[in-house]
Amino acid sequence: MSTQDQQYDVVIVGAGMVGAALACALAETSLKVLVLEGKTPELTHTHQYDLRVSAITVASQRLFESIGAWQGMVQRRVSPFREMQVWDATGNGSIHFDSAELGEPLLGHIIENSVITAALHERMQQLENIDYRCPAICQVMENSPDAMRVTLASGEVLTTRLLVGADGSQSWVRRQAGIPVRGWDYDHTAVVTYVKTEHDPAETAWQRFMPDGPLAFLPLTDGYSSIVWSTDPEHASYLCGLEEASFRIALEDAFEGRLGRINECGPRAGYPLRFKMTEHYVQAHLALVGDAAHTMHPLAGQGVNLGLADVAALAEVIVDAVQQRYDIGGERVLRRYERWRRADNLPMLATVDSFKRLFGSDMPAVRWLRNTGMSIVDRIGPLRQPLLQQAMGMTSDLPKLSRGIPLR
Ligand SMILES: Cc1cc2nc3c(=O)[nH]c(=O)nc-3n(C[C@H](O)[C@H](O)[C@H](O)COP(=O)(O)OP(=O)(O)OC[C@H]3O[C@@H](n4cnc5c(N)ncnc54)[C@H](O)[C@@H]3O)c2cc1C
Repeated sequence: MSTQDQQYDVVIVGAGMVGAALACALAETSLKVLVLEGKTPELTHTHQYDLRVSAITVASQRLFESIGAWQGMVQRRVSPFREMQVWDATGNGSIHFDSAELGEPLLGHIIENSVITAALHERMQQLENIDYRCPAICQVMENSPDAMRVTLASGEVLTTRLLVGADGSQSWVRRQAGIPVRGWDYDHTAVVTYVKTEHDPAETAWQRFMPDGPLAFLPLTDGYSSIVWSTDPEHASYLCGLEEASFRIALEDAFEGRLGRINECGPRAGYPLRFKMTEHYVQAHLALVGDAAHTMHPLAGQGVNLGLADVAALAEVIVDAVQQRYDIGGERVLRRYERWRRADNLPMLATVDSFKRLFGSDMPAVRWLRNTGMSIVDRIGPLRQPLLQQAMGMTSDLPKLSRGIPLR
């Protein structure tokens, strides 16, 4: 370690929703934290809706509350949803969920990604132990027995006990560490936009499963809904290229006009969808969180929620290690985080992947099975409750921050 090196306890690469949340979760510890972001994020909040939104579970809301970022989101714009309505386009199978079944006031919130990021960055700036560099370009990463060294394009050299890759599905940190990733293209592109419909979405998240992919209407404020229409790439580029009036008609048809006419429509954009999963989340002095460790289809609205649960677990493991005077970059310490999160993430990744396949099949037997299955689940209470709890992120082994319990 050279005396010229800048030394940090934790360096986080990537200040998206997951990386910024981790920085806030490490507030008020004795740790010196640096966040490196490659691109200047869009932090201004406008009247227009962001094309990218996330369905945020109750567990993720508790994390945001615990780290002091939730009020910043509420002050900007959040949209609660209390019900979910899911149905199959090829039969009469449907499921309806209501938060009242669990005695809860709501199932979650739909929040624009720019709102989440802006509130987290605002909170990050208030924290004295967090430094932030943007734009920062990482060039070289070297692991030595007692630390990790990162050289930036500016020539600066950083030394840290723990380097965290929160740099998304193409993670530079993961590639530098040589951590293998398994995955495949879904052959789906998500077309996203926002619309104003004739009837109010009534705080309900709607999803229609069609053979070529699911179409979701997620409730925003003032009668608007955010659209996520997953379909094959050719159809997606056709939809993105349509005149607005023709797109509105195509969307009304695909949604069976459940919310009446579509009166307004925002710009459209397409996002290719992939499944990715890493075998390991950690090495000595290194951990991966969020999409850097796992990327899934958005049909269950769980991707960033799993990433935020990674954040809560890693922060808890780090704080415990500090209290017990262990090295926060030690492999044994970090393996606890890996075991904890892989045990939770793997079943969700597998479930979402099998849903994608189950609903993507047009074979008559599979069609019958899924329609019958949906009708049974819709009618039988004991089958519904675990699904509802899962959708709200209320799993059994939740980290403290996701339960609203402070770390110290
Ligand atoms: C259409 C769509 C809808 C979705 N809907 C939902 C939903 O409803 N609910 C849900 O839970 N999930 C949803 N997801 C998934 C969710 O968007 C992702 O899981 C989430 O964005 C991952 O966040 P992240 O911070 O891990 O990664 P990212 O959002 O990819 O952020 C990574 C950050 O790292 C920065 N970065 C990258 N490389 C470097 C580098 N070398 N140096 C410095 N910085 C770097 C990037 O600029 C970026 O700021 C959806 C996904 C899609 C595609």
